[in-house]
Amino acid sequence: MVVAANPAKLLSVTANSPIPTRRRPALFLDRDGVLNEDRGYVHLWEDFCWVPGAQDAIAAFNRAGWLVFVVTNQSGVGRGYYTEEHVKALHGRMAKALEDVGGWVDAFYYCPDHPQAVDLRYRHPDPPDRKPNPGMLLRAMSEWPVNADLSLMIGDKDGDLEAGRRAGVRARRFEGGDLLEFLAQELTRPYPG
Ligand SMILES: [Mg+2]
Repeated sequence: MVVAANPAKLLSVTANSPIPTRRRPALFLDRDGVLNEDRGYVHLWEDFCWVPGAQDAIAAFNRAGWLVFVVTNQSGVGRGYYTEEHVKALHGRMAKALEDVGGWVDAFYYCPDHPQAVDLRYRHPDPPDRKPNPGMLLRAMSEWPVNADLSLMIGDKDGDLEAGRRAGVRARRFEGGDLLEFLAQELTRPYPG
């Protein structure tokens, strides 16, 4: 369920790399309602509308040396509203748009599962990757050199914040407005590196 935005970047920091990698702060971003307007089960680029400041916020955290991850519940897949291909294609378009502002998402994690999924492949009584469960964050932390103590989860729902806390990551609720303005104070904190 993970699509690396740039495989070359992924290879450069794998756990088995002979080059020692420093653990870095990670910005975990919920998608719908944080990066794009939550219009309900968004899965087509035509319906995708960036939240103001979202692309610039991602690029700013990239430049500051943070890892940036999207962690998004996509139960619309399990419910049969759209497919994983839609999710991957949309994330591809997001990645392309971010390139234009010099930004990137290090990895997109999504959870298609739901307790009432119509497609049995996606039905699980309590999907471990579905927020408020912390599975997607824990996976990112196992696949990338993340310093959890310095990391941050941003979401618009209680479940996002709970997932962050259960992964041992500080969590803040974004209630709308400009995402870069909301996050700017985080970049002024000292980053011991
Ligand atoms: Mg949301």
